[in-house]
Amino acid sequence: MFEKQIQIPSAEDILAEFPVPKALAAVKRERDRQVIDVITGRSDKLLVIIGPCSAHEPRPVLEYVSRLGKLNERVKDRLVLVPRIYTAKPRTRGVGYKGMFSQPDPEHEEDTLRGIYTIRKMLLDTIEVSGLSAADEMLYPENYAYVEDLVTYIAIGARSSENQMHRLVSSGIELPVGIKNPMSGSIPVLINSIYAAQSSQVFKYHNWQVKTSGNPYAHAVLRGRVDNYGNDIPNYHYETVMQVLDSYNNTEGGLKNPAVIVDANHSNSAKHYKQQIRIVEEVLQNRSYDPDFRKIVKGFMVESFLVEGCQKHDVVFGQSITDPCLGWEDTERLILDIAEKV
Ligand code: PEP
Ligand code: MN
Repeated sequence: MFEKQIQIPSAEDILAEFPVPKALAAVKRERDRQVIDVITGRSDKLLVIIGPCSAHEPRPVLEYVSRLGKLNERVKDRLVLVPRIYTAKPRTRGVGYKGMFSQPDPEHEEDTLRGIYTIRKMLLDTIEVSGLSAADEMLYPENYAYVEDLVTYIAIGARSSENQMHRLVSSGIELPVGIKNPMSGSIPVLINSIYAAQSSQVFKYHNWQVKTSGNPYAHAVLRGRVDNYGNDIPNYHYETVMQVLDSYNNTEGGLKNPAVIVDANHSNSAKHYKQQIRIVEEVLQNRSYDPDFRKIVKGFMVESFLVEGCQKHDVVFGQSITDPCLGWEDTERLILDIAEKV
């Protein structure tokens, strides 16, 4: 049984009702170009996708991105900083807080319509206060249409990378889409997913049969894996990255723009969030050691917020209510360090 609760206008209607001002749309377009240039290799800057595991309230997010915007001014000739503003959260057991898209206030019930307006305003304010457009996870492929004019990077989560609809919708997105290795860690599954996203596809999307162009900027994100006993096993090491490079090169039909982003948290750190610093350092070290490794590793994903760690309920301003994060001071130090070692 499905009880109809709230009727949600189409994305087209919402975008028309709440358009992005021209000046901010131009900032977003320029940011899209910068991120695309990293993925294609036209730019040798490193991409750093950084921010809380989930955005649960606009105020701390805007404080965080305004700090990040200032930091970006100091590192922008070496790095492209993209704030993580994830508004939909997959949950391991399917229950619990699902993100601002559906639940704009984590302490209250779902209200998807208010969620959509709240996140659009938050993403818009982000560009305004920081000059940075954000990354979001496309957990629900049809929801992408509600933020497509505001975001610059899309992630496909580990629990979604084997899903047909995620792959098909990714193939029409004109932005870099980072596809995570599945929870099992299978590199063939990851490569198949990138192949599907880079291919032209025909399918039903919203109320249309659509044909996509294929997304040449779809690429790999390594987040570690979970073994059959529930243990986290890292996959950011030299050997795995080189295996991904090998798979890129040996894919029948060919793949464009081989790229790996290392997600330093999740099963790579076993969510020991401070370990993110060491993991990034190790990857930077490998980059300086091998030109092929250097060429394919195009950036990092880091979970970070104003206050380190995490909390169950939103009591501490600027602390994650999902995965534990680095705090601001460590974040600033880490970003400056990456910029130095690029
Ligand atoms: C995340 O990026 O917060 C996340 C849920 O990642 P994953 O899909 O890798 O578990
Ligand atoms: Mn997370």
